[in-house]
Amino acid sequence: MADVKFAAKRGGFQYAGRDIDRGQVFELVGARNDEKLERLGFIAKVKKTDRLSECGGCQTLFTSDGERDSHFKHRHTARPWESPEERTLREEKHAEREEKIANETAPLRLDRTKAILSGKGGITA
Ligand SMILES: [Zn+2]
Repeated sequence: MADVKFAAKRGGFQYAGRDIDRGQVFELVGARNDEKLERLGFIAKVKKTDRLSECGGCQTLFTSDGERDSHFKHRHTARPWESPEERTLREEKHAEREEKIANETAPLRLDRTKAILSGKGGITA
């Protein structure tokens, strides 16, 4: 099972100390929340038919060219002219845009939280 790879359906979360971007392929480390990430739709198994796309900046794999490009633009573009305020603003805009895309392409399965599956309601995962 160790070679089963997962891809992030949504970005903007940290896993095992790494920032994970949308489409990013990574291996689970056996963390406590692994099962929850998959159940709620943050991640999904990489399919054999997925054509993976490699980032030229860090060799990380993504499940599409578009996701790789979005990652590259966000992570590897040098912006020496940017002030800290501009950087914060840009990162907020990026996060908002990512959230919007994720909500359209991979809405969270909040109907599958433990509380709901056990019939107790609520949205605490
Ligand atoms: Zn990269």
